[in-house]
Amino acid sequence: MSFSSDVKDELLKVHPAEEHCRIAELSALVKFLLKQDDDKFDKLILSSDNKAALRKCFTMLSKTFNIKADVFESGDDEFKSQVTLDARNCEIDEIVKRLHLDNPMDLLKRDCCKRSYLRGVFLAAGYIEDPKKGYHFEILTDEEEYAKLLTYLLSQFNILAKRSIRKKYFVVYIKESEAVSDVLSVMGAHKSMMGLANTRIEKNVRNNTNRRLNCDIANVSRSVNAATKQIDDILYIRDKVGLDALPESLKEMALIRAEYPEESFTDLGNRLNPPVGKSGVNHRLRKISDFADSLRSEKEKK
Ligand SMILES: [Zn+2]
Repeated sequence: MSFSSDVKDELLKVHPAEEHCRIAELSALVKFLLKQDDDKFDKLILSSDNKAALRKCFTMLSKTFNIKADVFESGDDEFKSQVTLDARNCEIDEIVKRLHLDNPMDLLKRDCCKRSYLRGVFLAAGYIEDPKKGYHFEILTDEEEYAKLLTYLLSQFNILAKRSIRKKYFVVYIKESEAVSDVLSVMGAHKSMMGLANTRIEKNVRNNTNRRLNCDIANVSRSVNAATKQIDDILYIRDKVGLDALPESLKEMALIRAEYPEESFTDLGNRLNPPVGKSGVNHRLRKISDFADSLRSEKEKK
C-alpha cells in the first residue's frame, strides 16, 4: 500500500462525533463524488474509484440525515462504485441545501469543522507522496475559485499552500516537510504524521552522517595535500640554496614542518620558540612557499 492510501485508510476511520463536523466533511465528500450536473435532484448519484471513501460518505449521510433504505451498487465501470440516493427515500433537496456545496464557508465557522472539511477533500481528491521519496501533498480541483478557497482554509492553520495548473486542473500543493506534517495533523491523521516524523528523523541522521563523513574526508585530504606541497617546497629550497638562505624564523618553521608532516598548524605553532598561533604558522609557511616559487621562476629564466 502507498503512503497516500495509508493516510486515507486512517482518515476513513475518523468519525466526527458532532453533527456540524459530519456535515462539513460530507459537504466536501459530496462535492467531489457527486456525478450529476443538473439541478433536478430527484436522485443523488455519488461515484468514486475509492470504494471506502464512498462507503464512509454513505454511512455519514445515513447517520446525519436518517436515510432508511438505499442502494449501494457498483457502476458500469469496474473501477468505480456508485451510490444512488432516491428522492422517494429521503429529502434530497434538504440534504443538498444543508451541505452548502457551493458555499462551504457558511459551514466552516469552527476549527473542528474546517478540519473535517479538509479531511473530506483529501479523501476525495488528495494525494500525498511517500515521505521516503519526498514531501508532497496535493489536492486537484477543476475550479480556480475553489483552489483559492482551499488555500485560504489551509492558511487558517498557518499552512502555506501553493497553487499551480496541471492540464485542466488546479493543483493546491505543499512541499515543505513541516507543512505536510501539519496538514496530516489538521486532518486527524496522527499515526501517519508520526510515520512521517520518523522518516524525517531517519533522513536527517543519514544526511548528517554522510555530510560529516564527506567533510572529514575532504578536510583530511586537503591538509594532506597542503602538507605535501609545503614539504616539497622546503626540500626544493634545501636542495637549491640551502635552508640557511631563509630568515631564522622561517628556517625554524621549515625544519619543524619537515619533521612533523602530519601535525596541525596549532601543534606546529606550539613547537616553535617562542610559540606562534595558527595564523602565524600559516603566514610563515606561505612565505616559505613564495620563496620556493621565486627560486623556481629564477631557474626558468636561466
Ligand atoms: Zn465542527
